Amino acid sequence: MHKLVKGIHSFRTGYFASHRQLFEQLASVGQTPETLFITCSDSRVVPNLITNAPPGELFIVRNVGNVVPRTDLPGGTAAAIEYAMEVLKVENVIVCGHTQCGAMQAILHPEAVENLTYLKRWLRQTDGVRKLIQERYSHLDEDARMTAAVEENVLAQLENLREYPFIAERLEAHTLRMSGWVFDLARGEVFDYDPERGEFLPLR
Ligand SMILES: [Zn+2]
Repeated sequence: MHKLVKGIHSFRTGYFASHRQLFEQLASVGQTPETLFITCSDSRVVPNLITNAPPGELFIVRNVGNVVPRTDLPGGTAAAIEYAMEVLKVENVIVCGHTQCGAMQAILHPEAVENLTYLKRWLRQTDGVRKLIQERYSHLDEDARMTAAVEENVLAQLENLREYPFIAERLEAHTLRMSGWVFDLARGEVFDYDPERGEFLPLR
């Protein structure tokens, strides 16, 4: 905790002091973020850092496994998605998974979370991904199956997003850009899903 308090002091005298105008403007005018960024709660994924986005630019929703709940399930994630779309009118939505994701490990090895009541329940939403991995990728080794789980999960969440009427409408009207990313922790690289080629390619 002490480290965090020291960090706040350093933020105030450093970044905040040199960006005071930006914060004043954000406080008086309000937020107009361009992007809804849905990612994992993992502490190693820091959206503003990897995109170099200043405050006010990313509307971020985080949960374990960057899951987009089905439209018939209530919850904070769906509420945040609705707010970003209907009120903030963001132009982009990005679902960003990442390598070494504990949630994806739990998809491959559900027994690891057997004793975690809430996590187990939450990850039931990704049962479709688990089945897909079993059906299509069981011949692969652990690392390759993990990569497949991370990628397939991002694609599954993009599909869930399309089910929200306010997203479907915007996609149809070409006023919303939807992307699926995977952040490679060890390499600091982001891979972007290319629907035409059907694969994740390095974002350049
Ligand atoms: Zn994760």
